[in-house]
Amino acid sequence: MSGRAPDVVANLARVRGQIAAACRAAGRAPDSVQLVAASKTVDPQILRQTIEAGLLSYGENRVQEGAAKWPLLRQEFPGLELHLIGPLQTNKARDAVALFDVIHALDRVRLGEALARQCVAQERRPRVLVQVNTGAEQQKSGVLPAEADALLERCRRFQEFDLVGLMCIPPYEGDPRPHFEMLVKIAERHGLSELSMGMSHNYESAIEHGATQVRVGTAIFGARDYPAGGA
Ligand SMILES: *Cc1c(COP(=O)(O)O)cnc(C)c1O
Repeated sequence: MSGRAPDVVANLARVRGQIAAACRAAGRAPDSVQLVAASKTVDPQILRQTIEAGLLSYGENRVQEGAAKWPLLRQEFPGLELHLIGPLQTNKARDAVALFDVIHALDRVRLGEALARQCVAQERRPRVLVQVNTGAEQQKSGVLPAEADALLERCRRFQEFDLVGLMCIPPYEGDPRPHFEMLVKIAERHGLSELSMGMSHNYESAIEHGATQVRVGTAIFGARDYPAGGA
């Protein structure tokens, strides 16, 4: 690492301004989009700055990193909302349900069953989103588009958690819009209201297409010193 630390509070103000502008341009209410800060690799000292600036929603990629960072911050700052935005292994369902309020990574029935069991055991009720691998990329998790309808039919029957929407990560290169449009269509077919789509380099386009949650890391915290984990 070299150079000065980024001014994360100024960055946050700029991102919030751009979200508000994108909402206005799309004829949407500014509070119809939730900013979830993607906080992988970000140090708690830095996170305190954005929390104190009023940003309360954070997304982690790895259960273990989340469990190491957030319990202490939560004691300091009640009211935080934690999202799991990275892939989830069935054997981490217990820790995931214990820590996260929103889980964006459901992509198979077996994982739904594991989450449901943990919800009962821990008396927790997270909101859950199904991740769709809209680009059918080998290295990405998420259900394939052709299998999304069947998975959603099946997962809607879980009573133990609230299935609220869909999440996607379009391929890094190329036009993200067809991916956003695909996610919107699937959500409409299933009457799901939450759309988790859009990252630092494309959240304005995602908002134009109806994103209700944008997951923004780099534009707030600066470049990470390793490539996007789990993405
Ligand atoms: C890291 C990450 C983000 C944020 O990416 P940036 O390009 O840094 O804004 C969003 N979603 C997921 C799943 C991620 O892993």
